[in-house]
Amino acid sequence: MADSMQTVANYIGGRYVPSRSERSEAVPNPATGETLVNVPLSTREDLEEAVRAAKEAYPAWSQTPVPKRARILFKYQQLLVEQWDELAKLVTLENGKSYGEAYGEVQRGIECVEFAAGAPTLMMGSVLPDIATGIESAMYRYPIGVVGGIAPFNFPMMVPSWMFPLAIACGNTFVLKPSERTPLTANRLAELFKEAGLPDGVFNVVHGAHDVVNGLLEHEGVKAISFVGSQPVAEYVYKTAATHGKRVQALGGAKNHSIVLPDADLDLAVKEITNAAFGSAGERCMACSVVVAVGGAGDALVAKLKERAEGLSIGNGMGEGVFLGPVIRGAHKDRTLGYIEKGLEEGATLVLDGREAPAAQGPGYFVGPTIFDGVTKDMKIWQDEIFAPVLQIVRVDTLEDAVAWANESEFANGACLFTTNGGAVRQFRETIDAGMLGINVGVPAPMAFFPFSGFKKSFYGDLHANGKDGVEFYTRKKMIVARY
Ligand code: NAD
Repeated sequence: MADSMQTVANYIGGRYVPSRSERSEAVPNPATGETLVNVPLSTREDLEEAVRAAKEAYPAWSQTPVPKRARILFKYQQLLVEQWDELAKLVTLENGKSYGEAYGEVQRGIECVEFAAGAPTLMMGSVLPDIATGIESAMYRYPIGVVGGIAPFNFPMMVPSWMFPLAIACGNTFVLKPSERTPLTANRLAELFKEAGLPDGVFNVVHGAHDVVNGLLEHEGVKAISFVGSQPVAEYVYKTAATHGKRVQALGGAKNHSIVLPDADLDLAVKEITNAAFGSAGERCMACSVVVAVGGAGDALVAKLKERAEGLSIGNGMGEGVFLGPVIRGAHKDRTLGYIEKGLEEGATLVLDGREAPAAQGPGYFVGPTIFDGVTKDMKIWQDEIFAPVLQIVRVDTLEDAVAWANESEFANGACLFTTNGGAVRQFRETIDAGMLGINVGVPAPMAFFPFSGFKKSFYGDLHANGKDGVEFYTRKKMIVARY
């Protein structure tokens, strides 16, 4: 985990290296508030050392035959499967989400490694033997160099796994800056990769905050940046990295709408929406934060959502049968409580008050499931990403109105429709402005072989994470026109 129980070390050149920084932050267990470790706020010199290690490792790694690289990914996949339970516990410990959610997250991370292990196929170029008489043309695919990754706290395993396995399988070397709020899983991922046979310096981890991020964005030796986090930082990272001549993909925040039509299977919709709104304490970029009840669907839907949410088990994510864990920090809990106050001031109807849940009295940073009805577009609780277990319900007359409402959000990550009508599905798919759509599914997160695709303020860049987009992002192409 770290070379000391006190302060997490960076992982550079295949070994733990203590940060030079004298500044660190406590990393509490969100379920108890007790400090687990300290995380260093690493310096530019620490980052410099990591980029140097990655640059030194690049020539040999980029020229390692692709099937040989892939074999290390296969071994890595085996080790991750063997350590599944340990990794899930680490995620729960530092993030707070329930063990079941963490277990699923580890699966999503492993799937990224499995996709990346297909590198021999993914890295193939293409050829046309006759572009003119006696002349052929071909495309060859190569890695781009040192890639920097900057990750959020909400998926300490899955989100970094969107980045480094594929980048590395494509022949790049990598410097990861995990969230300073969840530093532990990343170090374990690095250890296991080395155990799988990854050469030293190919994958490096530098802990910290703004200084490390800015160092990556400005570093001449870093060729591309993958970022996942909140909208303002995504925009900043996109602009800054681009100014410094880098490729950048920056995935930002979200406000996902679930539209429920009167013909929907209501029990299914309620089950899926409850999971999507309150699972992982609402700290998912694919969380359902707004339900749009169409026509007569409203009253029964709200009653059923309330009943189901009231029955959710809240507590330490390690506990048997716990569904809802804490939010990440006390400050985030305070911010969430501020939004509940704000919703009341704005005139929304508080159907279920998460402040009253016994666990919300502490210790730990718990907020119970919260539901607001009668939410309107002028309310901040509708406009902002709250990123907590706070669900807003709006009511409209038609599917067209529902889509128009959702399309007014400045975010466009995911959107769901609950219906049994095929025509409605088509209308929704053709008119909704969001990148990841669910039909009778609450969390339509694509698997690793498809792109993770948001629009508007949910995404800055051109090529999304994962799938063929990921391969394009982490490679560059040479074209040859040849007459023999
Ligand atoms: P965050 O933006 O606070 O932090 C993300 C990363 O950026 C961290 O590594 C952090 O150290 C760094 N950072 C934060 N502020 C910075 C600054 N001012 N300058 C430079 N670096 C800075 O995000 P978070 O709270 O860790 O994660 C939650 C957010 O991530 C939510 O908005 C969520 O929607 C989003 N998210 C989006 C996706 C997606 O696929 N679109 C996936 C997961 C999370």
